[in-house]
Amino acid sequence: QAKRTAAGPVVEFDLSMDTARLERLALERDLAQALEIGAFELAYQPQASLQDDAWTGAEALIRWRHPERGFVSPADFIPVAEETGMIHKLGAWVLHQACQDALHWPEAIKIAVNVSPLQFLSGDIVGAVHSALASSGLDPQRLELEITESAFVGENHRLSGIFDELLALGVSFALDDFGTGYSSLGYLHRFPIAKIKIDRSFVTDIPESRHSMAVLRSVVVLARGLGIRTIAEGVETASQAAVLREIGCGEVQGYLYSKPLDIVRSTELFEKGSRMRRIGYEKTGDLL
Ligand code: C2E
Ligand code: MG
Ligand code: MG
Ligand code: MG
Repeated sequence: QAKRTAAGPVVEFDLSMDTARLERLALERDLAQALEIGAFELAYQPQASLQDDAWTGAEALIRWRHPERGFVSPADFIPVAEETGMIHKLGAWVLHQACQDALHWPEAIKIAVNVSPLQFLSGDIVGAVHSALASSGLDPQRLELEITESAFVGENHRLSGIFDELLALGVSFALDDFGTGYSSLGYLHRFPIAKIKIDRSFVTDIPESRHSMAVLRSVVVLARGLGIRTIAEGVETASQAAVLREIGCGEVQGYLYSKPLDIVRSTELFEKGSRMRRIGYEKTGDLL
């Protein structure tokens, strides 16, 4: 429909609307096809303990390399997958692949998988997790599901049931991007959260920002009081890591330690790390 002004129809405007709609349809089509042919990969970003610098786990991060578009960021296509319902099939694939890949790592290394709120609210998340665990044979204690606060909207009794069933399977939960959403402390109390992932936005400007420092300190104290572990996202500098250690944050993830790696390189890194620990070397800077 042409948008009319005193000067007549604004053709540019409509053309760009159409372009955007066509582009969106093309993206949906490509996404469906990628899902069909298996064009996704998982990258793994290592996580380390601030206590002894040992590797503790890795977060699975989905990657899509499109033949013409090149690299498409999950920030751009996950929302499309959610709006079209493809997230359920995509999410199930991520769970399967991540559990399978984690078998290559030393047993002490956990695998964290991002789960869309929609998978919780409208999909068969229990079935998908059960199936990924059963087909891989991965120890369920090694699987951690990362959820954001938006998973907590809706009927709480239904949600509690889903959490209970997943807990019964032996998996644990991490609350992702903590501090960016509603951050209602009620969630921490009502749902079985084992770990809080403090959002990168509170890490970027420490130690200069008094605000971020105050938030970090409070979150760490609060979590400790509730028996919940903490991990900071997006740690890029040694001074950020030093501050986080001093504050008492448990774990870290970020470019300072490692970028997301493919399965081969992540396996090498973890094996090297555990071999060094076994023969009693201190893990030093060159591994980070
Ligand atoms: P997230 O779960 O908060 O993941 C952390 C993001 O921060 C990742 O971006 C990671 O590459 C990036 N990152 C890690 N360390 C640093 C750092 O030191 N500095 C900076 N600047 N960034 C860092 P990525 O891989 O682009 O993923 C973006 C978001 O897409 C994720 O945020 C997550 O919400 C979503 N996502 C990724 N994979 C999946 C998936 O398999 N399923 C679902 N549902 N969502 C996913
Ligand atoms: Mg995450
Ligand atoms: Mg996060
Ligand atoms: Mg984040």
